[in-house]
Amino acid sequence: MHTSSRVKDMQESITLKLNARAVELAEKGKTVFNLTAGQLPFRPMNEFVDLMRNELNFLKSFQYSPVVGFPDLRQKILKYVETSRGIDFSKVNESFDVVVSNGGKHAIANILGAMLDPGDEVIILSPYWISYPALIKFCRAVPIEVKSSVFDVFVPSLDDIKRAISAKTKAIIINSPNNPTGTHYSKEWMIEFGKLMLEHPDVNIISDEIYFELYYFDPKPFYFYQEFPELLKRTVIVDGISKTLASTGLRLGYCIAPKNLCKAIGILQGQTTSGANSLVQRALANFDFEKISEYLAPIKTHLRANSEIVREKFREKNLAQTWYQTLSAFYYIVDFSQSPVMNKFRTSKDDQTDYSEKICEVLLEEQGIAIVPGTDFGLANSARISLVLEKEAFKEAMERLVTFLAS
Ligand code: PLP
Repeated sequence: MHTSSRVKDMQESITLKLNARAVELAEKGKTVFNLTAGQLPFRPMNEFVDLMRNELNFLKSFQYSPVVGFPDLRQKILKYVETSRGIDFSKVNESFDVVVSNGGKHAIANILGAMLDPGDEVIILSPYWISYPALIKFCRAVPIEVKSSVFDVFVPSLDDIKRAISAKTKAIIINSPNNPTGTHYSKEWMIEFGKLMLEHPDVNIISDEIYFELYYFDPKPFYFYQEFPELLKRTVIVDGISKTLASTGLRLGYCIAPKNLCKAIGILQGQTTSGANSLVQRALANFDFEKISEYLAPIKTHLRANSEIVREKFREKNLAQTWYQTLSAFYYIVDFSQSPVMNKFRTSKDDQTDYSEKICEVLLEEQGIAIVPGTDFGLANSARISLVLEKEAFKEAMERLVTFLAS
């Protein structure tokens, strides 16, 4: 059967292929350290689970929700974002609203669908979350990449962003804390970014804050709109429960944006998926969001400890040039190009080929370590490690990884 060119242009993630191989090897009895996880391997809070259980008693939990989400939940989300980010929407001369969707990814797909026309440009900062370029292209718009590297701890240069802005730029996506780098931008960077955005009044900002709560080193994430609240008039904030409540499978995310964009998103969502899961929304409407930090405290301690293991292991093998300190989310990017193992793959000094996938395949076959090739994030000769694994297993995996990198 015919498939559309828009879908043909979309690439299947390499991660899926590697994951399938990791499962196959594990089934054959090989010790496999799976460091590909994009989710926390913990049960959500009991309070939240109990609320969901309670909602099973109500017919409403099994019926359609309002397309943009239950009003009490939307109100609660607005308040949570105001409190946690220290902002006050009522002080901005604009009306804001919330749209609840089936996960943060769905929220982003809706935003792009409601915002973009064919030929529009959207700036993305690489390494980026793989779905940004895929979704932008699906809208027949053009992703414009601004690169950063391990040498600048993956902080993109504001001059490069400035140069990337054109008359066609409809939006820029920023993602802090970041997947795949596991860092968040400093307050100073955000303030300078805000100043740059003030110079470009036609550029909208999509601020993907899905990892906002998951910082394990201070200072906590800061956003440009905290310094320049007037920028909220053209900002869309994205968040959800996938990461902060370890609930990727419940599919619940949301965005906050000026009312007219939310209206457009509501129309799109109404004609495509309808409202998000009623039961989860109703449970969340009764959930005390302040409990999130209590729930995440031991998880953050765990992530911090694993980030320290990365540091120690890289130091032991003199791989300091490849190392940087992660701060948030639960990832680390390994830059193969800065480690001796690269010589085994490059055919000459000038060889610019991206060997990420090949290296990850060898790493899996030889060392039993599954990680995500950087090709998926727009960063050649690199891979993403997930920091969520239990400490002793993680230590062993890191030992194997650095031995491989230094070989
Ligand atoms: N944004 C980023 C940067 C992510 O890493 C993810 C998930 O991995 C999402 C958004 C979407 O999360 P979900 O659709 O599970 O809410």
